[in-house]
Parts: sequence; structure tokens; C-alpha cells
Amino acid sequence: MIMYLGLVLIVMIVSGTYILLTLKNNEINKSNQQLALYAEKISEQVIHSATDAENIQERLSNTLTSAENMQGNVLDAYGVTIASTAVLQEPYPTFTDSAILAAMDGQISYSFAKKSTDSSGLVREWITCAYPVENEAGEVEYIVYTRMDAGDMQENLVASAQTILVSAVISLILAAAMGYIFAQTLTGPILALTKGAKALANGKLDQSLKVRSSDEIGQLTSSFNYMAQELKKNMSEISKEKNRLEIILHNMTDGVLSFDGDGNLIHINTAGIDLLKTDRRNMNLSEFLHTYDINAGVYLDMEKENANRSVIFPVGKQFLKASFAPYGNKQGQREGVVVVLQDITEQKKLDDMRKEFVANVSHELRTPLTTIKSYTETLMEGALEEKDLAQEFLGIIDGEADRMAFLVRDLLQLTRFDNKQVRLDITEIDLNDFLSRMVRQSQIHAEAKQQTLTFTPYEKPVIIYGDRDRISQVVNNIITNAIKYSLEHASIRVYITEDQDYYKVSVKDTGMGISREDLPRIFERFYRVDKARSRAMGGTGLGLAIAKEIMESHQGKLTAESEYGKGTTMTMWFYKNFPPME
Ligand code: ADP
Repeated sequence: MIMYLGLVLIVMIVSGTYILLTLKNNEINKSNQQLALYAEKISEQVIHSATDAENIQERLSNTLTSAENMQGNVLDAYGVTIASTAVLQEPYPTFTDSAILAAMDGQISYSFAKKSTDSSGLVREWITCAYPVENEAGEVEYIVYTRMDAGDMQENLVASAQTILVSAVISLILAAAMGYIFAQTLTGPILALTKGAKALANGKLDQSLKVRSSDEIGQLTSSFNYMAQELKKNMSEISKEKNRLEIILHNMTDGVLSFDGDGNLIHINTAGIDLLKTDRRNMNLSEFLHTYDINAGVYLDMEKENANRSVIFPVGKQFLKASFAPYGNKQGQREGVVVVLQDITEQKKLDDMRKEFVANVSHELRTPLTTIKSYTETLMEGALEEKDLAQEFLGIIDGEADRMAFLVRDLLQLTRFDNKQVRLDITEIDLNDFLSRMVRQSQIHAEAKQQTLTFTPYEKPVIIYGDRDRISQVVNNIITNAIKYSLEHASIRVYITEDQDYYKVSVKDTGMGISREDLPRIFERFYRVDKARSRAMGGTGLGLAIAKEIMESHQGKLTAESEYGKGTTMTMWFYKNFPPME
């Protein structure tokens, strides 16, 4: 608005001055013309027809009484006033004016704003004209000096200037009003745009401004709206993408940690927090490596391509595998590292078990093989000649071969369970009847150790469904163990109980019992509390492992309770709703 007003002011000043100057010039020209005409008149009507100077004054007074606001004077060639319309007799006023000097040279000359006092003694401004009158020889004889009061003209000019000033003020006011409206129409939308842009920057993406015109501002507003709309679309796209990532990361079972170039933790997912058993979200990389005692070399090796970037470390009872994946920008500068954590406890346990299992199998097979080998060698070296000895040796070899065969049989059976290749031949079994028969079969072994083996049938008939051969294998194994691991005169009791879901067959002995540390391990493959004793009794250490597999394949359980030195109770749990109804 200020610029606008300034512009108007400049235009007004320039044009006003121009108009005033032109007016003034016109006025002066007009006055000059009048003065010249008046002088000419004096020259013709007064000077040319006068005979001497006295005469001139007389004629001047008679013919031309001072006309209008003009004053006429006649000067001789030396500039001395000899007649005047202002005063009728001497002394005539003396005039000093450059125009008179010019007229003495024969030139008609004018001057403006010449100040001098008039007859009443007032200082006034004059417009003057000096008109030379020449004689026949062409010499300047007289000078007619006419003058006119410039006051009127000045007044006119002042009035014009006032008019111009008033119109300037009015146009300034109008211009100010127009400027204000103009500024409003211009700044209004710009202010709205500024406000919109600020709101956009503050994250309020729902910005749509009203387009009021089709000019540049209108186009700018439309572009702004388009930009806001696109921005919103892109932001929602980005946040959707982010949410998707968040959901994936959140629901992953693997832990994910990402560190920036300075090693600060910038993200850790829920699985990561669970796996690391930490609630710290502001760890840095070196702290992380230090806390979990991870070989820092893993991280440093990252400069090398194909370097091993994973490491296994324990957290509590768990084993975690951390894989380090560095990431960089397009220029190849490293910007950080992503660490993926996997819980490999199960895997490691299985791995360890597999290794132990292979070691156990080799060991179990090697023992009978060594025995067989040494007896055959002894036989070949001549023991064959002694019939009794040979017989005895062959018996041992046969026994060892049997043991190997049992071992292989048991292993095969376990493998089948592992590979889920076992098909159960399910029939109805009357437990009371079935168990009393099994106990009767084992009676002979118990009696051999003078043990009492008794079965108390359940008060009501108990019917279960299962694979008769396999269940008899379990029962047999457990009763045999009770006999094997109890001393003479021990008593072994077989009985049935039930709860809501299960029929429970327990075999309770008063044998040697199993220590607290060994108890949870007796179902492991090849686990034997007393290896020598077990082996001496022909056990493979696989019996309970197989029994457990069989019970589980019937949706049942096999549990053991024991007190060291007092006795053991093994319980088979038969699930009442087995097999599930189809
Ligand atoms: P084994 O072939 O050695 O008998 P099992 O798998 O049947 O193998 O049993 C595993 C181990 O559990 C045995 O070596 C023994 O130490 C222990 N055990 C099993 N039953 C009893 C029991 N009734 N009393 C004491 N110890 C037992």
C-alpha cells in the first residue's frame, strides 16, 4: 500500500509541477504579448506623432490613460524616463532593468518578477517589456518600457496550485482506499496460503483452500491444494507401509534390532525384548555386545565380504543366534547394522541330543562287538579244541549277538516313533483281565528273586482302547524294571486308580528307588542310573523311552515317583477318550 501511495504521490508531484510550470509560462507569454502590443501602441500613437519630449508626456496622458493594469513609460536612448502613465509630471521614476539595456541595443526584451516600488511606495513584482523605437537612421531613439503587476498572475497560479493540491489529496485518498482494497484482494489469499502452509508443516494435512479467482494467486492456491492432497496421499501411503512393517516386526518370532551409524539402538521389536530379557530401548551397539558378551570381532569383520556375521550366545537358559547385517547408503557408506536374533535353544538341544545319541549308539554297539570279537579270536586261536570252553564262549557270543539284536530292534522302534511311522492296531482291552494276565506271566521272575508281585483288580470293569501288543510291551517293561531294580524280598504291587480323564495303572515297588537328580532323566534314551548293573541285566537303556513314546501315541502319559532307597512308583495314564471319536 505504501509503495502504491508513493507511486501516486510521485505522479501527482511530477504532473502537478509540469502543469503549474506550463500554466505559468502561458501566463507570462500572454502578458508579454499584451505588454508588447501596448508598447507598440505607445510607439505608434504617441512617439511617432510627437515633436519633443514635453509633447510626448502630454500625448501619453491624453491618448492612453493607463490602460487596464498596465503602466507605460517612455525612456530616451540613455534610459532616462521622459514620460509615464503612472505620474503626469516630473520627477519621473527611474528604472533599472536588464531588459532596458537589451532594448538600448535595439532588441525587444522582457523580464519577469522584477521587484520595484510603485508610486505609493509598495514593493511589487512586475512583468516588464522594453520596446526600442528607432529613428529613420535605424538608431534607438526612445525605449517604451511597459510593465504589468505580476500579482494577479501569481494569484491565479496559486489558485491553480491549490486546485492541483486538492485534487492530489483527493486522488491520494482515493488511491489509498483503492490500494487498501487491492492489497486486501492480493494479501488476503496470500495470508490464507501462508496459514495453510504453516498448518501443513505442522502436520495438519487436511488443507483445502478456497480458490477465489483464476489469476496467478488463484492458480497458486489450486497448486497448493493439489500439493496438500498429494502430500496427504503420500503420507498415508508411507504410514500404511510403516504400519505394515511395524506389524510384521511386531509379530515376528525372531528378534530384530537395528542400530544407526553411531551405534545407537533405533528399533527393537517385541520379540527382541523378550529374547534378550531386557526392557532397555536405549542401548547402544557396544553396550549390547558387552552385555551379552558377544565377540566384537563379528561386528568388525563386517568390512569383509562373506565374513561370518553370526554368533551364538546364551541368555539365561536360552541360546540365541545373532545375525549381523550391515546396511549402507547408495554411496556404499555404512549407515548401521541390523541384528536378527533367533532362539535356537530347541535346535541346539536337538543337535546336542542327536550327537549324544549317535555317540551312545556307537558305544552300545561297540561293547558287544568287542566281546564277540575277542571270544571268536580266542576260539580261533585254539579254544575250539576244548569243547566245554568253546560251548561256553559260543553261549557268550550268542548272548552278545542277542543284545545287539535287541538294541537294533529297540532303535528301529524308536526311529519309527520319531518318523511317525507307527500304526496302532487298536482293540478293546479289559484292563483287569489284561493286567492279571501280564502279572501272572512275570510272576516267575519275581519268585526267582523271592519278591511278591500282586495285582489288585479295580472294583469295576475298566475298558480301554489301544494297541494290545504295544501296551503289553509297556507294562512288561515296567514290571520287569520293578523286579530288576528291587532287591530280594521286595514287594511289587500293581493297581488301578482313575480320575476324571484318565485310568491310571501304577506299579509300586519297594526297591532301590531313584535319586531326585536322576528321576527326570530316566525317560531319556540310553539313560541308566547305574550303567553296569543295567547292562548286566540285559537292559538297553531304551525301554522307558520306548514306553513313553507308546503311551504318548495313545494320548496318555508315563510318570515316575520315587524316593531314593525306598521304592519307585511308575504310573501309566490311559486317556479315557482315546481314540478320539470320528
Ligand atoms: P534299562 O534297559 O536300563 O532298564 P530303562 O529305560 O527301562 O532301561 O530304564 C532306565 C533307567 O531307569 C534304568 O537304567 C534304571 O536305572 C532306572 N529305573 C527304571 N525303573 C526303575 C525302578 N523301578 N526302580 C529303580 N530304578 C529304575
